[in-house]
Amino acid sequence: MTVSYWLKDAEDGLSPREPLDGSTTVDVAVVGAGFSGLWTAREILRRDPGRSVAVVEAEVAGFGASGRNGAWATATLGTSAAELARRYSPATARATIQAMRATIDELISACEQDGIDAGLQRTSVLRIARGRQEEPGPARALASYRDLGLDDGIEVLDAAGLAARVRVADARGALADHHAAVVHPGRLVRGLARAVEAAGATVYEGTPALEVRPAHDGRRPQVVTARGTVTADAVVLATEAWLSQLPGYRRQVLPVYSLIVLTEPVDDDRWAEIGWQGRELLSSHRYTVDYLSRTEDGRVLFGGRGAPYHFGSRIAPEQDTHDATHAELREQLRRWFPPLAGVAFSHAWGGPLGLPRDWLPSFSFDPTTGVGAAYGYTGQGVATTNLAGRIMADLIVTGDTPFRDLPMVGHRPRRWEPEPLRYLGARYLQRSLGRLDARSARRGVPPSGRSLAERLVQH
Ligand SMILES: Cc1cc2nc3c(=O)[nH]c(=O)nc-3n(C[C@H](O)[C@H](O)[C@H](O)COP(=O)(O)OP(=O)(O)OC[C@H]3O[C@@H](n4cnc5c(N)ncnc54)[C@H](O)[C@@H]3O)c2cc1C
Repeated sequence: MTVSYWLKDAEDGLSPREPLDGSTTVDVAVVGAGFSGLWTAREILRRDPGRSVAVVEAEVAGFGASGRNGAWATATLGTSAAELARRYSPATARATIQAMRATIDELISACEQDGIDAGLQRTSVLRIARGRQEEPGPARALASYRDLGLDDGIEVLDAAGLAARVRVADARGALADHHAAVVHPGRLVRGLARAVEAAGATVYEGTPALEVRPAHDGRRPQVVTARGTVTADAVVLATEAWLSQLPGYRRQVLPVYSLIVLTEPVDDDRWAEIGWQGRELLSSHRYTVDYLSRTEDGRVLFGGRGAPYHFGSRIAPEQDTHDATHAELREQLRRWFPPLAGVAFSHAWGGPLGLPRDWLPSFSFDPTTGVGAAYGYTGQGVATTNLAGRIMADLIVTGDTPFRDLPMVGHRPRRWEPEPLRYLGARYLQRSLGRLDARSARRGVPPSGRSLAERLVQH
């Protein structure tokens, strides 16, 4: 089992909890001990402390994306506010983004309530325009927030304003979104697992669910594992990218790999050159996603997509690293920050995230089958999973939620195409978007937005 820097740093020598050994019956069974599953368990027990809750985890709590991510807790979804307005309505876009902004506060207060030291620090996302081709990006993005009345806490920084915060090579300015926090994801997910146990849940590790049986003929839903079956009134699937590996759900999400490199702690002289004292979350305006964060102990994390999609939505431990992509990430980091040229890299890891066909997450519970699912965060689930947990708990405990009008609630995205179309489409998009970024950087002009690849990934 590969373990990310975050999990190692959170707990030296993770000692797995006991697996499920024999069949059991509970009120709620949760499959997957990442943020989604654990927030759902926490919120159910807060609404009804008397419920019995079992969390069934294939490896250890935090093994998935929750223990491996880029540390960004942001108020955005895979689908932009403008796209939500286009697909649904401006009012829906506003309600969704406002709920996400409030989620940053919820995340911080939940950790305080449960005594979880997740290193949460409020900060800003800086989407930096790097190069002439990205110059129009910040103003355009601000205008689309303003059109929706969502520009509170959003501003454009010019080159000097940006340099006062962080000095990035070839930076022309940035869009600053102040609704964000930086987190230690390993401490958050492991702390959350302990908190749900303290609240009365049982977390079984080393227990992969092999099958989920919906309620039928008066029988309750079940989670089948190798060493026992969990029968429950409600089953929640919280396996994100791994949903694609479960019989009956294979085409719900596309597992896309995101990879990360991490430096050794950077010395004070270099920090004096770079700035970045506010630990802002940095990215550019490219299609080929890049994301950076600064750890509490002064390391730089640089993440990006680019590792290839694998035929048949294959997920396997050896895919957590990809030499060519990791080398490219190291190279890019040096280009962002020339003063880091001589700094050594200590860690490289990666993992799959879940991409739904329309890039919008789904939080649903069907009382007829007794099965619900929270998934499809498109690489933006650190904060969103907290909202998901509250919504899932509302739906299971009361049958309704104050968030019922948000488009993620009860959402049923179209399934992905069968293979080989899925493979061909995914690889076409990966290659085309990489080429578009390279071409626009060479020419110094933004991509037109009209190419087939760009229209296909409009989100
Ligand atoms: C490299 C990377 C960087 C990212 N960076 C960011 C970021 O900076 N900000 C952000 O907002 N989002 C980021 N994301 C996305 C974010 O981490 C996820 O959206 C979020 O953690 C999803 O949480 P989850 O609990 O739904 O899924 P996961 O954390 O993936 O948890 C799923 C769990 O289910 C378990 N499981 C799988 N199959 C089974 C089974 N059959 N039976 C039992 N258990 C099973 C897995 O072992 C895993 O523990 C990133 C993702 C990756 C991969």
